[in-house]
Amino acid sequence: MHEASIALSLIEVAQDVLRENGGTRVSALSVRIGQWSAVVPEALHAAFPAAAAGTPLQGARLSVVRVLGVGECPQHGPVTLELSKGLRCPLCGAPTPKLLQGDELELDELEIAPSVPASGALSNRPELAEEES
Ligand SMILES: [Zn+2]
Repeated sequence: MHEASIALSLIEVAQDVLRENGGTRVSALSVRIGQWSAVVPEALHAAFPAAAAGTPLQGARLSVVRVLGVGECPQHGPVTLELSKGLRCPLCGAPTPKLLQGDELELDELEIAPSVPASGALSNRPELAEEES
């Protein structure tokens, strides 16, 4: 399944961040998913526990932050896209082939379990499958 491999790559990125910060376990993570990315948050939620099993992310709380799509209209500049209208300016209908945001799939925040003195949430935005088109 698509989301299973996405869960695995998110876990890899999270483990890198964890290592860089000298942590041993992740208690929670949040992921930014663009409305226009092909990822279904529910499916990612479903795939995550199995993908995280046996990793430092086992049992971690996954939350998903949805990012609205923003395209660039030649006339109106950045406009918030509506899924039902496709990649077109909702004001004038002009095609907006370039997404300014809304196709992201990235780790937003990672909460490292306080097993060692250093703890707390940190913000990190590694590039993950960003700007592919
Ligand atoms: Zn427009």
